Amino acid sequence: MASLHPDIIPPADEEVRIGRLDRMAIGLSSLCLVHCIATVMLTAVLASAGAALANPAWHEIGFTVAMLIGAVALGRGYAAHRDRAPLLIGGAGLALMGVGLLRAEGLPEIAATMAGVVLLALAHRRNAHVGHVHAHRRGLARGAPHA
Ligand SMILES: [Zn+2]
Repeated sequence: MASLHPDIIPPADEEVRIGRLDRMAIGLSSLCLVHCIATVMLTAVLASAGAALANPAWHEIGFTVAMLIGAVALGRGYAAHRDRAPLLIGGAGLALMGVGLLRAEGLPEIAATMAGVVLLALAHRRNAHVGHVHAHRRGLARGAPHA
């Protein structure tokens, strides 16, 4: 009765893709955190290098990618498991990142960006985790005999 062993059924393609996008988003958030910290530290010791890193284009590109990945991964996650928390946390994170972009005036904008990036990473982590639990439940449901 091998077909009644739900534990060995791999998650559906859709759920694997959600996890991959979440991991990408978390990686992007980590990169930006490193970038922000480096900007602050370099600006303190070497103004010219700090200026190159502080170029708002980095955050404009990062914000655009983060929004796209967030919309797809968190949107799909919500459609799959109806947990509103990742959407709310991720939305707040993106809003903070947006505030950081609007007011590009040094430390306050970097602080807003870093807080937003951390929130966004947490949202994707929760999204990936809930998606994983969901995949297990789906596997169990699929393994159950029917008709
Ligand atoms: Zn950054």
